[in-house]
Amino acid sequence: MTASGEIAVESRVGMLPLADRWPLLAQPTALVLYLCATVGLAVGAVGYLGVSTVFRWSELLTFVALMACGAVCIEATRRLGMPAGVSRDLLSAWWLPVALLLPPVYALLAPLPLQFLLQIRVRATVLYRRVFSSAAIGLAAGVASVVFHAGVKDPTGQALGSGGPLALAVACAVSFTVLNTALIAIALHMADPDTRWRDVLWDRERVLLDVVELCLGVLVAITCGLSPVLLVLTLPPVVLLQRSLLHAQLKAAARMDAKTGLLNATAWQREADTEIVRARRTGETLALLIVDIDHFKRVNDTYGHLVGDQVLAGVATALRSQLRDYDVVGRFGGEEFVVLLPRADVGEARRVAERLRTRVGRMAIPVDEAMISVTISAGVAIMTVHGDDLIELLAAADLALYRAKELGRDRICLPVAPAPPPRARADNSDGAIP
Ligand code: GH3
Ligand code: MG
Ligand code: MG
Repeated sequence: MTASGEIAVESRVGMLPLADRWPLLAQPTALVLYLCATVGLAVGAVGYLGVSTVFRWSELLTFVALMACGAVCIEATRRLGMPAGVSRDLLSAWWLPVALLLPPVYALLAPLPLQFLLQIRVRATVLYRRVFSSAAIGLAAGVASVVFHAGVKDPTGQALGSGGPLALAVACAVSFTVLNTALIAIALHMADPDTRWRDVLWDRERVLLDVVELCLGVLVAITCGLSPVLLVLTLPPVVLLQRSLLHAQLKAAARMDAKTGLLNATAWQREADTEIVRARRTGETLALLIVDIDHFKRVNDTYGHLVGDQVLAGVATALRSQLRDYDVVGRFGGEEFVVLLPRADVGEARRVAERLRTRVGRMAIPVDEAMISVTISAGVAIMTVHGDDLIELLAAADLALYRAKELGRDRICLPVAPAPPPRARADNSDGAIP
């Protein structure tokens, strides 16, 4: 029965790493085997279900009408542009009715035309991602469809709108999303074992979108089950929703640094300012770190800028993985990152900075035959101790970073305290920051 979340699949598959040549073969063997097994299973299921399905003209026409609606959706939003990296759409509104209303083999085939259209009209991505994406959606939708048809023999709009079949339809839609997400999450985890399961499986925004897709899919299925002609009425609202979703994603993309996925400097500054105003109002502490990769120029000089970019992205991921959700992390420019730690005092800030330094230092990024490791230095500044606004804190952290570089790099430093007045010196003779 049901299906939802094509987008979810498409977007999550977008997180699989790219390689310049022979992209699939450049992946770990286990991942290649997994991708091939998924695609093989989907092809096998199409063959198995295909021979046992009696094709009817009315069903074929419904399938074509639903795919045409999906194609219109893609074309109607294409001109808005696509945010870089991961993006979501609402194409499940069309997969789901296919899975619920038509024999299961259609659910397996449905991703093909729309993925093909996405590839040639929206974004030409590496082919194996598209193929895997189609297979994952097809399998998840196929399973949902088989289960639904086992419970509801002759699905129509009236049948779907009534108690038992409706509940089963919703359950199958949920199972579609879950299976879909699981198939992709396994691939992502194989591609990068450092990825946290939580990051690929759970994201409030993503789950909300999955629920919207699921509801839309069931509603379109009921409408289309009454008469495929009614699809004309469902198309405009779905297109409008799709456009507003894309608009929101484009807005979010404008805040993001494309190379690292962190906030860009402008967006970080805006968020950091907000946090500082809040901390001043509530009297809470707050810390700011400037993190700089050591001798990054050597990485570029030795391995080239493309590899340098991979290292930047790797460091960004490592930083993000060690921070709390409400810490504000951004790319300041070049190989420098900025982190704002709300509610952190000196001790906490030093601990976090040390954790970041250790994590990055242990990281090894595989490039061709070699493994690249880098270290970082960081300057730490604490609100009210080293500055009262963003400019002062940045200046203080920058000085501290400069000191860390002078002292030999791969270390964390605080700004040197101004010399205490003679009387106070008696109490605090080394002049160090407490
Ligand atoms: P230090 O330890 O003193 O920080 O040395 P460093 O080599 O890291 O610093 P330097 O400022 O000498 O060089 C920074 C290098 O970062 C130079 C520049 O080419 C490189 N860089 C800046 N932005 C990017 C980028 O987006 N991608 C790549 N690959 N390199 C970048
Ligand atoms: Mg540097
Ligand atoms: Mg620098």
